Amino acid sequence: MNEAIIKIRNLQRRFPVKETFLGKPREFVYAVNSVNMDLPRGKTVGLVGESGCGKTTLGRIITALDIPDGGEIFYRDQPIGQYSSREMKAYRKKVQIIFQNPYAALNPRQRLYQMFREVLSVHGVTAKNEIEMQVSRLMEMVGISPEYRFHYPFEFSGGQRQRLCIARALAVQPEVVVCDEPVSALDVSVQSQILKLLKNLQRQFNLTYLFISHDLSVVYHMCDEVYIMYLGQIMEQGKVEEIFNSPRHPYTEALLSAIPVPDPETRRKRIILSGDVPDPVHLPAGCPFHTRCPRVMDICSREAPPVVAFSETHRTACWLYRSS
Ligand code: SF4
Repeated sequence: MNEAIIKIRNLQRRFPVKETFLGKPREFVYAVNSVNMDLPRGKTVGLVGESGCGKTTLGRIITALDIPDGGEIFYRDQPIGQYSSREMKAYRKKVQIIFQNPYAALNPRQRLYQMFREVLSVHGVTAKNEIEMQVSRLMEMVGISPEYRFHYPFEFSGGQRQRLCIARALAVQPEVVVCDEPVSALDVSVQSQILKLLKNLQRQFNLTYLFISHDLSVVYHMCDEVYIMYLGQIMEQGKVEEIFNSPRHPYTEALLSAIPVPDPETRRKRIILSGDVPDPVHLPAGCPFHTRCPRVMDICSREAPPVVAFSETHRTACWLYRSS
C-alpha cells in the first residue's frame, strides 16, 4: 500500500456566526466536521461535494492558510500543529495550492518575471544568478514561451493564466498540491489541456494532489481515490472505481446520477433530491443527509450512522448497511 504523505485525523473547523452582547461567539457553522483523510504519495485524491460543503476550507487548512479548531494534520507522520515557525515555513513550501480563479490569483501589476523572481527568492529556492534560467524553465514546463516573461497577466488568456499559476505553485518544488476547482472557471475547450498538464507534471515530479471539484466527470478522469463530502462531513470514500462502479451512500448515488452520459442509448435514472439542505448552524441530529435522503429510515434522524467498510479502502457512513 502507498504511504500517505499527509494524514488528516478528526479535523474540525467552525466559524462563529452569532455573537452575544459581549462579543462572545454564540453559534457556529461547522465547515469541517471530524474529517479523516489520507493523501498517498504520488496519487490524486478527489474531494467532491456541493458548493459550501467545506471542501475549500479543508484545502485551506491543509495548505496552512487556515487553522483548525480541533484534530491534527500529520505531514510525513509529524503533527504540523506542533511545528516551530521555521518548520511551518518549510511545510508551506512543500504544500502548495492552485486556486479556482486564475484571473484573481495573479497580481495584475506584476510582470511574470517579477512574480517568479519574488517566489524563488522568498523561499530561497534559486541562487540569484540562476533566477533568469529558472524562470525560463518554469514557463517552458507549463507550455508558455519564456519570451513573454516581461508581460503582465492580463495579456494572457484564462487557460494560460492557470498555466502560470501552476508554474508559480511548482516554483518552490512542492510535494503536495491542493488543486481547488482548477478548471471550473475555464472554457470547456481548455479544461482538458490543463488537466493533461497537471497529470504530466504529477508523473514528472511524483506530486501528490488533493483535487477539489464538484464535477464528477473530471474527478473520474483525474483521481485515484475519492472522498464525498456533505455539510462538512465525509459520507463515503474509496478508490475511484469503487465509488463510480458501486456507490453505497445515497448522496453519492444522487451525485453520480446527475453525470451526463454521452451515449443517447444509455439512460441513467436521475435521482432528484427533494427536501431542504439543513441550516449548517443548526445541524439535525442523526445523519446530516436525512432531510434529503430518498432511503431515509426512522433511526437516521435519531442517531449518527456508523462508518461501514466494504473493503480496505471503501467506507461509508450510512445506516442502510447496519439496519438489520
Ligand atoms: Fe440516508 Fe439514513 Fe443512510 Fe443517512 S443514514 S444516507 S439518511 S439511509
